[in-house]
Amino acid sequence: MSDPVPYLLTPYLLTPGPLTTSATVKQAMLRDWGSRDGRFIDLNAGIRDRLVRLAGGDAKSHVAVPVQGSGTFAVEAMIGTLVPRAGRLLVLVNGAYGTRMVRIAEVAGRSVAALETAEDLPVSPAALDEALDADPAITHVAVVHCETTSGILNPIEEVAEITRSRGRALLIDAMSAFGALPLDMAALGAVAVAASSNKCLEGVPGMGLVIARRDALEAAKGNAHSLSLDLHDQWRGFEANAQWRFTPPTHVVAAFAQALDEHEAEGGIEGRGARYRANAVLLIDGMRALGFETLLPDHLQAPIIVTFRMPADPAFVFTDFYDRLRERGFVIYPGKLTVADSFRIGCIGRLGAEEMTAAIAAIRTTLSEMGVATGAP
Ligand SMILES: *Cc1c(COP(=O)(O)O)cnc(C)c1O
Repeated sequence: MSDPVPYLLTPYLLTPGPLTTSATVKQAMLRDWGSRDGRFIDLNAGIRDRLVRLAGGDAKSHVAVPVQGSGTFAVEAMIGTLVPRAGRLLVLVNGAYGTRMVRIAEVAGRSVAALETAEDLPVSPAALDEALDADPAITHVAVVHCETTSGILNPIEEVAEITRSRGRALLIDAMSAFGALPLDMAALGAVAVAASSNKCLEGVPGMGLVIARRDALEAAKGNAHSLSLDLHDQWRGFEANAQWRFTPPTHVVAAFAQALDEHEAEGGIEGRGARYRANAVLLIDGMRALGFETLLPDHLQAPIIVTFRMPADPAFVFTDFYDRLRERGFVIYPGKLTVADSFRIGCIGRLGAEEMTAAIAAIRTTLSEMGVATGAP
């Protein structure tokens, strides 16, 4: 994508985050902000309003609560605050991020169950229906929108429908999809959605985000097992004086405000999603032409990150492939799967057709340098 200072963009991060940000997002971090400065307070208020709208929330019934830290901090604040101490959480698991939510609940001392499917299959609404029927103690259900472990898109509409019709509360980890794939939390009836400053919103890392129903947050006083991850308290802080409870990540916030402007200028969720879909098509077609196979069939693939099976050619050594691509200015990502030996290439961040085409050209040259005849598994 055209940017005034190309060296500020390389290496290109073809990863699930941190990812490539625009020069202007980085520039927004060049000044310092006082945390009680009126302009900084306005910046926070603007961000919180825009996040509610992006999540399909309503200004009266939904609120956005930023949390210092990475995305996991937001997920942990969401679960630890919204699931009461006497509650029981059912997590739909088809990858590492679902598993992480189970772990978060265990550490928080919450009663938790996991409903697992294989990493190359979506979570199962039918199994959820049965599980909720069989276990009346379950109060909350948690699901990952795009499970970044494989890049699979989970059927959150069906999951939401079943959860709502059975009277349970839904928590969504939308981290790797938020801002690029549509999500309407009011229509879904979700209680809370977790996201981050990084990933599809193309800010810099350092801030987690939870958009939640106001009534759920109100009812959550005293639930949290942690002071710094108490979402209710953090929210009360913002409501009381529009300030963060503890030192805010000021530069991250400033960059994020710029990133949201750029998101809006690109056409919001629709525009950003269209660019990522075009990136994914260029990536997948280009890799298939080199013999590589995707783990997932196209209809299960989210346009966020793509898992490729490891080539069978003995000349292909992943660490060597990775290092050579890094030399050419492209950073890819190792696999995280247990079902298949694989690696991943992301198509999110400040990347467009030019960069994806260049990445495929670099992969082609690298394979021939390594003496790899085909990427076929
Ligand atoms: C990136 C990600 C997270 C959060 O990871 P952090 O490393 O803590 O930022 C959580 N869930 C999903 C689905 C993710 O992709």
